[in-house]
Amino acid sequence: MTSTSTQAYVLAAKDAPFVLQVLELDEPQPNEVLVEVVACGICHTDLAVQNGSFPSPFPSTVGHEGSGKVVKVGTAVTRVQPGDEVLLSFSHCSECGSCQEDHPAACDKFGECNFGRIRNTAIGGKASGKSSTGEEVYGTFFGQSTFAKHALVVENSVVKVPAGTDLVQLAPLGCGLQTGAGAVINKLAPSSSSSILITGLGAVGFGALFAAAHLKLETIVVVDIVPSRLELAKSLGATHAFNGMDKDVVEQVKAVTKYGGGVNYAVECTGNVRVLKTAYDATANRGHVVSCGTPGPGNPVPIDIFANVIASKTYSGLSEGDSNPPVFIPFLIELFNKGKFPVDKISKTFKFEDLEGALHAMHSGETIKPILVMQ
Ligand SMILES: [Zn+2]
Ligand SMILES: [Zn+2]
Repeated sequence: MTSTSTQAYVLAAKDAPFVLQVLELDEPQPNEVLVEVVACGICHTDLAVQNGSFPSPFPSTVGHEGSGKVVKVGTAVTRVQPGDEVLLSFSHCSECGSCQEDHPAACDKFGECNFGRIRNTAIGGKASGKSSTGEEVYGTFFGQSTFAKHALVVENSVVKVPAGTDLVQLAPLGCGLQTGAGAVINKLAPSSSSSILITGLGAVGFGALFAAAHLKLETIVVVDIVPSRLELAKSLGATHAFNGMDKDVVEQVKAVTKYGGGVNYAVECTGNVRVLKTAYDATANRGHVVSCGTPGPGNPVPIDIFANVIASKTYSGLSEGDSNPPVFIPFLIELFNKGKFPVDKISKTFKFEDLEGALHAMHSGETIKPILVMQ
């Protein structure tokens, strides 16, 4: 058996720093693809593994907004062949009801497939590679683990894209951006006369904003606490922008809606329970509030059942924007190519060696979507 020598950022344990190491990757299993990684967006979920809010085995490699070129394929792979250009997204089991009905983001085994480090369900969990000292390192985070120059990727995380696709700027489509865009397009599907509120202007929030602007919604309200993000959102299609620190933000949102009773739809992207309550309160009767962000396990929804019945409101949770990546990602690429999904307006690229700088830019709020470029 031959192996591929590569470089990857490894977390030795919970709260350990990312350390660049040489890894020997295994040969692809039948359902795996060896990808030479071109770029990878950085998402808060990667850092949740580092700080332990997402349980993970260690030592571990993360990164789940990758793009690249296929180098080798396992014997059972049919989606791609060597030389194909790909964007990478979440993994799923392909067998449960949701997967069978083309809603893989609601897979019964979403947790195991994306955080459980399962390489091949028939073979059982196994590490993807070995460090120079021979220690096994866990990969396949979201089916990919792409804070690395090469990655062993589960076939159903792979989306073939047309040659010449911008693999750097579009690398992050596979997680946060499709989550926000999918919430609007796949789940809420509002008519253009509707009003929508988007709380939280990270990648998910901007994905939702781009989608709402593409659908030409009459009223698109954004709420965040960073003034520069509110300004940016206004330049990219938001009709109204309010600061979430304002005590009367609910009244401010209601005041700009047609009948003054609130928005028809709200997309909550922060995962903050207090912000969810704000979004709910700013939604009109018969409206629909969807949570894309989460505060982690153990937090109940702050909704009074009686008041909710009286208001005939809908509250729902949504994973990955109900995206079916092989269909939805090419659709988003087309929008990008038409200038209608300007992800490059919210991102900044960093050299692979400068993960530190990228993380700093993310923490300081200066960059919404840092992208690591591997070569
Ligand atoms: Zn499934
Ligand atoms: Zn993510």
